[in-house]
Amino acid sequence: MEIHMYTIDGKLKRKILRPLKCVHDTVFLLEVSIADRKYLAMSCQHCQNITLVQKGENMMQPILAWETKTKKECGPSKMCVGGPEEILVADCNSTSVMIFDITSSQFNIKRSIDVRMKVDNLCYANLPDVGPVIFTTNAFPTFQVSATAIEHGVLWTLDRKTYASEEGKKWLPKGICIDSEGHLFVADYGNKHIAVIEAMTGHILKIFQPPEIQGSKWLDHVLWCNSQNCLILSHGYMDSKVSLYCVTG
Ligand SMILES: [Zn+2]
Repeated sequence: MEIHMYTIDGKLKRKILRPLKCVHDTVFLLEVSIADRKYLAMSCQHCQNITLVQKGENMMQPILAWETKTKKECGPSKMCVGGPEEILVADCNSTSVMIFDITSSQFNIKRSIDVRMKVDNLCYANLPDVGPVIFTTNAFPTFQVSATAIEHGVLWTLDRKTYASEEGKKWLPKGICIDSEGHLFVADYGNKHIAVIEAMTGHILKIFQPPEIQGSKWLDHVLWCNSQNCLILSHGYMDSKVSLYCVTG
């Protein structure tokens, strides 16, 4: 079991043996900064734990770990960075997102937010006038993208009923990420395109298909988006491909 690190131009930088006994293929990764140091958080919904290792030459030593105490507490799956010293973790056993407090010495569940859907993927933004918002997707069975304000509950939901078109019938949102201007990028697995959605309202602003995924059978995830609107896309196991796409205009 290995973790592969790539540079942005696609060159393999380093292979790292996974520093855990876990052999599941449902391990999710998140880079976290705590007090200017970089860490890698790894969650496994089967082992029901999250482990934190410091990024660097020797990544074999977990420095902090969280493990569910009761088997019903949380099945940690996808994660994203939240507010300061926070990470958000989707619970695969419920419709909740857990907010974890994370510092160099503590790692605990602070709060649980019911987002009213099983969460496949998530991202976070602090929006003007609304405050912290969690954006979530579900590919099956509800085919939803939703925005839930941590203090005010669900802001909007976009599902198949929102459309009246052929595209709507195939709408199957998977990966999600957000840029600094409040644009959500959602990988629509059913239509094999990317929808750009306004974070405040849930309105679809634009739909496009990057040339990198034309003819592709799969479009699983928009993995990441930087300040220049460069998206990292992953195409799942049929194409076995990861690509970089820069949105312009
Ligand atoms: Zn595991």
